[in-house]
Amino acid sequence: MAGKRKTIKQRNEELAKENKKIRNYGLKFRAFSTPKQHEQIIQTIGCARFTFNFFLGERQEVYHETKETLRSGEFKQSFNALKDHPMFNWLKKVDKFALECALEQVDDAFDRFFKGQNRYPKFRSKHKSKQSYSTKETNGNIALDFEKEQIKLPKLGWVNVKLSKKQRRLFKEQGFNGKIKGATVTVHSSGQTHISLKIEEVVPIENDIDWSLVSAENIMGCDLGLTHFLIDSNGNKIENPRYLKQYLKKLATLQRQLKNKKKGSSNYKKLQHNVAKLHLKISNLRKDFLHKQSRKLVNENQVIVLEDLNVKGLIKNKKLARSIADVSWSTFVTFVSYKAIWDNKKVVLINRFFASSKQCNGCKEKHTLLSLSDRIWVCPSCGAEHDRDRNAANNIKEEGIRILRTPVAS
Ligand SMILES: [Zn+2]
Repeated sequence: MAGKRKTIKQRNEELAKENKKIRNYGLKFRAFSTPKQHEQIIQTIGCARFTFNFFLGERQEVYHETKETLRSGEFKQSFNALKDHPMFNWLKKVDKFALECALEQVDDAFDRFFKGQNRYPKFRSKHKSKQSYSTKETNGNIALDFEKEQIKLPKLGWVNVKLSKKQRRLFKEQGFNGKIKGATVTVHSSGQTHISLKIEEVVPIENDIDWSLVSAENIMGCDLGLTHFLIDSNGNKIENPRYLKQYLKKLATLQRQLKNKKKGSSNYKKLQHNVAKLHLKISNLRKDFLHKQSRKLVNENQVIVLEDLNVKGLIKNKKLARSIADVSWSTFVTFVSYKAIWDNKKVVLINRFFASSKQCNGCKEKHTLLSLSDRIWVCPSCGAEHDRDRNAANNIKEEGIRILRTPVAS
């Protein structure tokens, strides 16, 4: 694979400036090949299987003898020379990109094996019920004509396919704006053939969802707190990670010790170094936790309502646990916000001084006497019993709904 090209991540970062992103998806079609095309497909599958197995064997042998890893890029030249040999020139009758793909699939199989995602690569058998080959797009050698319902493939020419009703409607409404990156042709033992196209499309990040119409059950209110990291309006609680507490305790101890040391002494410097190291460790663990939780929240909800913690005057607090929590909350709000933009979802930020915890979610009565220590309370006006944080999450959700449904003059 060409490693010099820009990665998807880099391209997405550039596209984000124009409010666009890359979307990868597949399109699968039932194919109706002519007998001649079918013969060519079967031949190509055979050649791709041969290529895969040949290179897999070669790679294993080279490793066995030299402990070196032979990558497809290095092997390609000798493989092309092999195709010129009279014994192997039948390989030249088929799509050469299919054979290149087979070589790269061996690399991929090993890469996944070393990452622990797959078992050790196996030789391909010709007796499986599904046989396939993949090929890649170069200079327009793969194309889709959705009006004629045909796909062009190397060496095969135009193959008839059948569009689903949904595909036909979508193409009619929006046309086809994607770029074809590759194709996989699969033949089942029943004789049915399918063609899957790998598509890459640059799409606008924002779409025209009317957020004021989103129903309440697709809106999630979240209360971020000290006792729990997060409580949502369905009553789900996410605990603060336990290790964080332990490390914070350790950090507090170290910082206390640091205070008692003479500034500039070697002991002071040593301790200072340890404090810095621990800070970094906590920061990495916290970020990892925040990424996971924000991803989960965005995956599971369409609209997320959070308190806006990035307002000026975030209360300065001397307590370490509290200041760390403040940083975590605003980082979390940032993470949720940009992940939501990527996924075409919506974040509503509400004023953090909105009296979320002291208002009864049932009768809307405010209870100023409620103290921070009251985890569970009974509303003196309507008698409803509330879990303090869940009540807050529900109020946050309702405030979010109110904002969503209030028309803005623009
Ligand atoms: Zn009440």
